[in-house]
Amino acid sequence: MPTTGAEPTLILRFAALAAAALALGAGPDPAGVGNAHPPTRAMAVTVDDLPALPSRDFAEMRRITDGVLAALRRHQVTAVGFVNENKLEPVGERAERLALLRSWLEAGHDLGNHTYSHPDLQRVPLEEYERDVLRGEPGIRELLAVRGRAPRWFRHPLTHTGPTREVRGAFEAFLAEHGYAVAPFSIENADYIFDLLRRKAAGRGDSATVDRLRAAYVDYTMSVTEQMEALARETFGREVPQVLLVHANATNADALDETLGRLAGRGYRFVTLGEALADEAWRTPDEYVGPRGPSWFFRFRMAKGLPLRLELEPDPPKWVLDLYREAQR
Ligand SMILES: [Zn+2]
Repeated sequence: MPTTGAEPTLILRFAALAAAALALGAGPDPAGVGNAHPPTRAMAVTVDDLPALPSRDFAEMRRITDGVLAALRRHQVTAVGFVNENKLEPVGERAERLALLRSWLEAGHDLGNHTYSHPDLQRVPLEEYERDVLRGEPGIRELLAVRGRAPRWFRHPLTHTGPTREVRGAFEAFLAEHGYAVAPFSIENADYIFDLLRRKAAGRGDSATVDRLRAAYVDYTMSVTEQMEALARETFGREVPQVLLVHANATNADALDETLGRLAGRGYRFVTLGEALADEAWRTPDEYVGPRGPSWFFRFRMAKGLPLRLELEPDPPKWVLDLYREAQR
């Protein structure tokens, strides 16, 4: 029979592949990437909207901070946390909220500026936006100064980098004058969507949905990661250190440990933001101007004269998006 006749050939082909992998010293492929080379991948981790979201309940903020910091510690990650200082209010709670931020520095992480009130550069006049950046730094300046340091990184809310080339250029000059560098990212995992749904499910005691969201969140992060690895290969002919953007929320307090574990299993070692950006690929100009806040790997394609291909950003699973639409109604 033709089918049985084909089998020995297939077995031989797999045997040959296995032999080739052994010859390369690759051994098994724990990352499951179907690639004979041992994965050597690097990733920096950045966490936005510190001290935590939502910012109404101090006990919950403490729980989120502790959960996220524990996950980072377990995987020996040195991260940058981006702060919105309006979350240091109300005045009576400023000291204890600053203490949340201090725990990041005590754990060896860096703190960056994410503006005071999270305005959108797409909508707010530049002067107003710049005032919000300066209003967003007294706390982190104070905490860093104790350690002989100053804020170094800025992340745009919504990663909206400017509606026009002029606004973008003027704002980047402003940042440089104040000693800031833009913190880009390559992987973003819509954790705010998962987190909003998680809060609603937890609020009605629906632990089955909380668990299902958690599993889907980790899987979705891995699928975005895979997509960005492929986009780097297509854009630069190789993989490039990744920069993950997540938020300080209950979803990550709960699932960041597993997420980082899965990433380590994919061959990632965790580096600082500065180390990741030292790769020359990250010096490619970002020429994106527009209403979205895409991964820098898409933005770099413009400088290289390649089609942007924003459609390649994978969506969260349909059932998650359906729940999200329902929740917003
Ligand atoms: Zn943000």
